[in-house]
Amino acid sequence: SIPVGFFGGIGSASRKGILVKGSNFLEGLNDLKYVVMDKTGTVTKGKFEVGSIYAVEGYAKEEILEIAALAEQYSTHPIASSIKEAYGKKIDPARLSDYEEVAGHGVQATIDAREVLVGNSKLLIGKQISFKENNELGTIIYVAVDGSFIGSMVIGDQIKEDAKETITQLHQAGVEHIVMLTGDSKAVAESVAKEIGIKEVYAELLPQDKVAKLEEIMQRKQPSEKVAFVGDGINDTPVLARSDIGFAMGGLGSDAAIEAADIVIMDDQPSKIAVSMKVAKETRKIVW
Ligand code: ADP
Ligand code: MG
Repeated sequence: SIPVGFFGGIGSASRKGILVKGSNFLEGLNDLKYVVMDKTGTVTKGKFEVGSIYAVEGYAKEEILEIAALAEQYSTHPIASSIKEAYGKKIDPARLSDYEEVAGHGVQATIDAREVLVGNSKLLIGKQISFKENNELGTIIYVAVDGSFIGSMVIGDQIKEDAKETITQLHQAGVEHIVMLTGDSKAVAESVAKEIGIKEVYAELLPQDKVAKLEEIMQRKQPSEKVAFVGDGINDTPVLARSDIGFAMGGLGSDAAIEAADIVIMDDQPSKIAVSMKVAKETRKIVW
């Protein structure tokens, strides 16, 4: 049977905006030694903004944005939202006849009967399309039409206000290893990690690479130690499901993420991980 005190703990957490789906997860937080975080939407706001745009000769910057916005019209990825917002005009859905999202890469679409690719360098490399590398700091999105590179754009995200203090608080609460995983570029990942104090970073990961990385970490730990994964569910629901304790961002997170998670942080603040550990500790004191 479940000791009564645990219900108090779950209630106390819920009053703090933390939804714990079972007393076992709250109890498990007392043995939390590894916190693995996704970057976009967890450490950063996941609200991208389009910065500078580069267009090859013969194309206007506005055209790069228009083609990208058309291709991204059905994507709910935060990068897609920022492109549509930057374009700002109404999109004619009839111009798009075919569409496919390539997880961790971008999108492939047919617009005005032309084959369009919008995504990271891996997407173009995979299609053997040569392009001019954009070395600005930020997430770089490349655009290609009918097998030719036509332009790129720099998209920036912002680190969440409480991200840095989260790392300090987690260490104080007894977490020994904090790891960041991302599908984004090495340059962006390392600059974010450095700014908030995360030392172990893995970048350019596809969704399945994130699962493999998590499983590697699960093998590294002692049997009594617990591993948490924290994500927004965009491309990381399988990782959430596989960790000992999966945290999802409730505001940004997809329905699938909220369902796969063991603990939901309603206001998307990563510092709530440390708060939930505090609740777990207090609950244990009451139960025993
Ligand atoms: P993260 O691990 O940072 O949460 P994702 O796995 O969601 O990132 O995506 C990894 C990378 O794949 C992005 O940084 C971007 O380069 C590319 N990408 C994914 N979806 C899209 C999209 N809809 N449009 C353009 N690029 C995308
Ligand atoms: Mg993500």
